[in-house]
Amino acid sequence: MLTDTHAHLDSFEDPEGAVERARSNGVERIISISSGLESSRKTLAFAGGHERIYVAVGVHPHAAATGDAPTLSAIEELAGSPGVVAIGETGLDYFYMNSDKETQIRSFTGQIAIARRRGLPIVIHVRDADEDLIGILKSEDVSEKRGVIHCFTGNYETAKRYLDLGFYISFSGIVTFKKSDELRAAAAGVPADRILIETDSPYLAPVPFRGKPNEPAYVKHVAETVAEVRGLKTEELARLTSENATRLFGLDG
Ligand SMILES: [Zn+2]
Ligand SMILES: [Zn+2]
Repeated sequence: MLTDTHAHLDSFEDPEGAVERARSNGVERIISISSGLESSRKTLAFAGGHERIYVAVGVHPHAAATGDAPTLSAIEELAGSPGVVAIGETGLDYFYMNSDKETQIRSFTGQIAIARRRGLPIVIHVRDADEDLIGILKSEDVSEKRGVIHCFTGNYETAKRYLDLGFYISFSGIVTFKKSDELRAAAAGVPADRILIETDSPYLAPVPFRGKPNEPAYVKHVAETVAEVRGLKTEELARLTSENATRLFGLDG
């Protein structure tokens, strides 16, 4: 069994078809991640009609300007809905910088507090912002469930800093790209009980679908690459990353 711990089913034209293809490729569980309040409502509505589709509700750093107090209290209320297993995705993105740093930090720390009050893990997006992000994770009162650094793209030293704070590290299709040697080395080094895999679909398709729309079924290709660098069979890697997802997000086994 494979688990795609990060897909944006609300961004698919045909999420139903994507889920069917995932299932016929052994991807039995999908965590569908939200990017804002409307996205959270849409994602919950879709997941409600499907077995083993779980939800993270939250506001993406790209939409941090919408992460004001009324929006965050609506997110907190949604977080109590059946099927919600995490808060996110949230975090800091200083590459696109769609909102200024202060706005992003406010939205992020607000969601850290929601995760703590709800006893949920956080799904963290970080780009060009590791120093600020690590500083915040050290100074804020973070949920005891911690969470995951999703679509990790750094080296092992950076991964280690998040591991030391109790976080899981999730690898996406980027790990299959030709130039990703440093990332593959990180994927080889993360402890077996802290590694996750994801697609971040419909973005970031892995090789051999690079440049095409991505979907949860392709998490298999991420699993193959990560298994190879860790010297495991794909089935073994699929099993251990699924067990990790079950533990972190409290999924049904
Ligand atoms: Zn992200
Ligand atoms: Zn995402």
